[in-house]
Amino acid sequence: AHEAALAARNKEDLRSPICCILGHVDTGKTKLLDKIRQTNVQEGEAGGITQQIGATYFPVDAIKTKTADGKQEYKIPGLLVIDTPGHESFTNLRSRGSSLCNIAILVVDIMHGLEPQTLESLRLLRDRKTPFIVALNKIDRMYGWQPTPDNDFQSSLAKQSRAVQREFEDRTQKTILAFAEQGLNAVLYYDNKNFARNVSLVPTSAITGEGVPDMIMLLVNLTQERMSDRLMYLSELECTVLEVKVIEGLGTTIDISAYVHHKEVKAALGVKIVAPDLEKAIAGSRLLVVGPDDDEDELMDEVMSDLTTLLNSIDKS
Ligand code: GDP
Repeated sequence: AHEAALAARNKEDLRSPICCILGHVDTGKTKLLDKIRQTNVQEGEAGGITQQIGATYFPVDAIKTKTADGKQEYKIPGLLVIDTPGHESFTNLRSRGSSLCNIAILVVDIMHGLEPQTLESLRLLRDRKTPFIVALNKIDRMYGWQPTPDNDFQSSLAKQSRAVQREFEDRTQKTILAFAEQGLNAVLYYDNKNFARNVSLVPTSAITGEGVPDMIMLLVNLTQERMSDRLMYLSELECTVLEVKVIEGLGTTIDISAYVHHKEVKAALGVKIVAPDLEKAIAGSRLLVVGPDDDEDELMDEVMSDLTTLLNSIDKS
């Protein structure tokens, strides 16, 4: 079984990357999530997009229909996007959310630039060394913008009047400067020649869907080309507690995000667990599985040290 697990570790066959959305309030995080879900559903076949516990799973087939580029090669089965913006009370989850993430989308309102919680999100992403892209959202709010629903950004921009194009250039330059003040090289994603050094800006509208296909393609490309080591299947289960909540009739439950190595289920997953004594579970902690060869006391020590670190980080924030 161990050999089989090793053989399965292959850069051409990867698990789904886990993606988080962060940013200042009202920049459009929720709307952007809705948009990626809904545009796919509108295409008739829901394409296997499933709303999971605390997350939405986008299988690669659904991504393909949205971004009809025949040249694209897919090594990941899909993307698991964590629905963190819905949980406003979970500031801690937000900070831990980024640690379970392989990649993050930092949403910035193009009309407002960098705002206080954008800077807070930037600090979190840096602390956790989480790679991220920036969605420069609400492009449709620029004066005179002529929308082409769900279009790719560059072709939409080409259709705008000179005045709109100039406004876009000005606002983008301002945002780039603001990122430079934070010590970051930000560039429009289609001008980005060095993904290791520069943060990509993807102009989007969560209302018209413009730039959304670009954003998804960028996530697919960055994760499968640059993070394949972290996305190969594991021979064991790894998961993180996303949310602890009481549900009538079930008692205290925990929602977890799991990466599993399994013959049929080839994805990162959201799962709800119902069990006794979950009141003591803390969002952000790891979930360990005790196997026949494991030392339960050792794992217990590991969990306790995790919790201590987690509680210290909550105290500080
Ligand atoms: P969140 O707090 O970041 O989750 O922001 P929401 O998704 O709730 O969006 C805040 C407000 O901005 C809502 O009224 C949205 O309809 C609006 N909004 C979000 N994205 C866009 C966009 O791309 N264009 C326009 N015009 N409005 C947007």
